[in-house]
Amino acid sequence: MEWILHNGEFIRENELNVSKEDRGYQFGDGIYEVIRVYQGNLFTAKEHIDRFYDSAEKIKIVIPYTKDVFHKMMYDLVEMNEIDNGQVYVQITRGEAMRQHHFPQVTSPVLVAYPKKVERPVEMMEAGVKAAFVEDVRWLRCDIKSLNLLGNVMAKQEAHEAGAYEAILHRGEVVTEGSSSNMYGIKNGVIYTHPATNLILNGITRRVILELCKEQGITVQETAFTKTEALEMDEIFMSSTTAEIMPIIQIDGQNIGEGVPGELTKKLQQAFEANLKLTVKS
Ligand SMILES: *Cc1c(COP(=O)(O)O)cnc(C)c1O
Repeated sequence: MEWILHNGEFIRENELNVSKEDRGYQFGDGIYEVIRVYQGNLFTAKEHIDRFYDSAEKIKIVIPYTKDVFHKMMYDLVEMNEIDNGQVYVQITRGEAMRQHHFPQVTSPVLVAYPKKVERPVEMMEAGVKAAFVEDVRWLRCDIKSLNLLGNVMAKQEAHEAGAYEAILHRGEVVTEGSSSNMYGIKNGVIYTHPATNLILNGITRRVILELCKEQGITVQETAFTKTEALEMDEIFMSSTTAEIMPIIQIDGQNIGEGVPGELTKKLQQAFEANLKLTVKS
């Protein structure tokens, strides 16, 4: 049985006790992170921890640990569960209070974290995946990694029912991001992606990719593109902590480029892999 983390204590998973009036359970009043583990190492841990604290601050939840203590807890969780390749899921809610919408006067946030073994989706990254356009009906604070995921969940379900791996969200004509990933289009060697505004979640993988592009001399424009432009791109790919760099070869049944993963996407995948191997060794 796995060890999980509950408010700073390591317990067995069957010992977890969460209140019926936890505000995360009733309102989705909380935030979360998913951190990748490669060969027992937390990948880009600092960036994920910073974003976790930023998201919490944006909804006025105070995390009662220093970032160093928090980092150590995540590390111990991975070690105690002997996770080689996998991920850590961590969330914090505003905690238990009598059900009323406004914040309780006294809050005791509830933090839960648990790890999971996951292999890299190597075959899918090689073959590419299909996507479907879905209208982005989420709220206007998509920059917060909120537990409120109804908009994302419904978009993913719509894509899933259409036989697609990911939903490409658009507000009107403008492509924003995926249901749980960031979106990129490539035209004539230039990579386009929505700027990191309140309309998208600024992925840690996105930041790694932008950094790699800089190193490789690949031009990136943080400029949004439309649905029509998406269909005319040479290549499309998405990124996330678990999917890494995932080529999109079809949207709504229409081929992107030749309908196979593109050259620049493959080059970025290689750079990403080299980067994570370096990080893991150090
Ligand atoms: C988490 C998430 C991403 C990807 O972020 P990573 O840090 O790269 O995993 C993109 N979009 C949404 C809506 C997300 O929740």
